[in-house]
Amino acid sequence: MNNIYLALLQTTILLMLLGCNGCQTESSENNGTKDNIEFPVFDRDKAYSHVQKQVDFGPRVPQTDEHKACAEWISETFESFNWTVQNQEAEVTGFDDRPMKINNIIATINPELKNRVLLCAHWDTRRVADQDTSRQDQPILGADDGGSGVGILLELARAISTQEIALGIDIVLFDAEDQGESGTSTREYRKKTWCIGSQYWSKNMHKMSKKPYMGILLDMVGSKGARFPREGVSTKHAAGVVNQVWAEALNLGYSDLFVNDQFHELVDDHLFINDIAKIPTIDIINLPTNPSSNGTFGHYWHTHKDNMSIIDKHSLGAVGDVLIQVLYKNAAGIL
Ligand SMILES: [Zn+2]
Repeated sequence: MNNIYLALLQTTILLMLLGCNGCQTESSENNGTKDNIEFPVFDRDKAYSHVQKQVDFGPRVPQTDEHKACAEWISETFESFNWTVQNQEAEVTGFDDRPMKINNIIATINPELKNRVLLCAHWDTRRVADQDTSRQDQPILGADDGGSGVGILLELARAISTQEIALGIDIVLFDAEDQGESGTSTREYRKKTWCIGSQYWSKNMHKMSKKPYMGILLDMVGSKGARFPREGVSTKHAAGVVNQVWAEALNLGYSDLFVNDQFHELVDDHLFINDIAKIPTIDIINLPTNPSSNGTFGHYWHTHKDNMSIIDKHSLGAVGDVLIQVLYKNAAGIL
């Protein structure tokens, strides 16, 4: 064998190896179906850096410069992935009965398609650290409470832009989820001052070719050791969506995070999407077995501990991987 043939052979073998290594798509035969679906890869490092970037702006409290700067960055980032962005700006009544300017950020792909899915999170962060023992009057960084859901959805938008999907997707990032009055424990009272952005959007949905047939809300989805039980409002209004998501999580080996326990009903953005917009929507939310003194959420909830030190790439990646499976299988009509 002369050197030219040897070089050609080596090149061929190298290309074959590269071909396999570069092949990021997977056949859904691995997941027990016959259809060949090409799934894009969710990059957990990129999701993490999107959380970091938001935290770098500082607390994102409505009507502050940091809030405005972060909104611009979020919009530009979606646009860089060729998603269409709208800012739904409104003046509403805040927790203190004074006017509050809010901005729901909406990113859309495939606007003409009638089979649509809603993905959402809140992007504002709490104006006070009322669950902390110190600096209670100061705003929190909200790495997990706000930042993680947005970080995942931004990376999801990038991943989807690399692999065509036969599904319309509306990502809505709600403002003013977390500006409610402290200590408002009754459900009816919580509705008055919390989840203001999602209540506004649910009453004033942006123009869509058709209303989404299902929705998935992410809230506090990026902390180390996160635990997502099946939350009550989700199973009440959207049991089918819960079953899809938890089944895909099991397929992917993430049943340590997506546990099968049932949890009671929470007042979160999805409650209003279900009640007012009538879109069957679930909430993926961290509800640990050993919550802090607040009795429900993680030890860092509404404290200054909600910073990058609690954020975990494995949790971000698990949620992103599950969403990719759910979306592309929905698009293929097999979920
Ligand atoms: Zn919160």
